Amino acid sequence: MLRHINLSAIMNYIRVEAPISRSMLAKKTGLNKATITNLVGELVQRNFIQEVGLETNGLGRPSMTLRLNPAAGFIIATEIGVDFVSVIGTDFLPKIIFQATEKTNPEMTVDDVLGILVKNIHQAHEACTKEIGDKCLGLALGVPGLVDYEEGVLLFAPNLKWKDIPLKQVLTSDFSAPVFIDNEANLATYGEYYFGAAAQHPDVLYLSAGVGLGGGILHNTQLLRGVNGMAGELGHFTMMPDGELCGCGNRGCWETLVSLRALFRYVEAALKVQTGSVLWDWTHGDLSQLSLDLIIAAAREGDPAALASLEKIGQFLGIGIASFINALNPDIVVFGGIMSDAWEFLEPVVDSEILKRALPWNRKGTRVVLAQHGNNACLMGGIATVFQAIISQPASA
Ligand SMILES: [Zn+2]
Repeated sequence: MLRHINLSAIMNYIRVEAPISRSMLAKKTGLNKATITNLVGELVQRNFIQEVGLETNGLGRPSMTLRLNPAAGFIIATEIGVDFVSVIGTDFLPKIIFQATEKTNPEMTVDDVLGILVKNIHQAHEACTKEIGDKCLGLALGVPGLVDYEEGVLLFAPNLKWKDIPLKQVLTSDFSAPVFIDNEANLATYGEYYFGAAAQHPDVLYLSAGVGLGGGILHNTQLLRGVNGMAGELGHFTMMPDGELCGCGNRGCWETLVSLRALFRYVEAALKVQTGSVLWDWTHGDLSQLSLDLIIAAAREGDPAALASLEKIGQFLGIGIASFINALNPDIVVFGGIMSDAWEFLEPVVDSEILKRALPWNRKGTRVVLAQHGNNACLMGGIATVFQAIISQPASA
């Protein structure tokens, strides 16, 4: 048992701090050098780590440094979105070997979309095998809906209108590697913690705004799942009891105030009074042509309607974040999704709302930062999930 824990700890230090020497590992873990030599020997023998070069610190003999072995095997991460399927394959560093995205649409059948997914997984498998040999360490899939994480079943995806799809069963019938299914926002949260903007922050609040407002909560390095595994539906926090109707059936969810649809609503309302806005010219008077890019461009030109609308998004975003800072006391808040393209306009408003509304003790030291992986956050979370499954039990992987 202890040996397992130590192997796992060493592998994690090597992952985070590579290249690192055996003596530095001894210092970091508090284990003696003989134990480190022994455990490192086992990890080298299992192909998970490799010696990469000599390190001299100016004193004494130079020592050999270690890193993860890229050829330990490959990992495939996939995402089913509302109108796309994405797949990446990485080695064990992780360096991306294969990446593909294919357009789909919500009218397609489940079988059609899964067919595209499986075809792309096979292509990733082939490309990775060519590069580092035929050893798949695991396969992860993120989906936009409620997931029974243990059973690997997609319970409900409102924007796809999918219900009770046994995704894990489908994928394990085709692939022999371990399969992990999770909600895309949970995976994105984990990806930003493991490889991104929240690295080394054990308590993370992650938010992603675009078509909807999704989120995830990491507590003490673990995703908060709740009793049925459904925790993290932050976008459906009621903020306006009599507000707009939400896709979930409730009224006034946070998502109805912070999303692309909300932004377009604010802009259209502002344009009714601001007849001289550049947005009238740019859309040729057809407001169905509004896009986030146009609104950001208008804001950069100082257009009052665009600026006021983005300010409103920033306000409601900040009000919600302040409440969650009070409830969760995270040490970092990560903001991603397509709406983060407007961060230059949102950030000052969000910061001022937090300053106004969050308890000083709760917000002390909490920073709101931009997500690092953008559109790849969910896929990187899939890679991270497989990584963590191996690193937590290297002797049985
Ligand atoms: Zn809702």
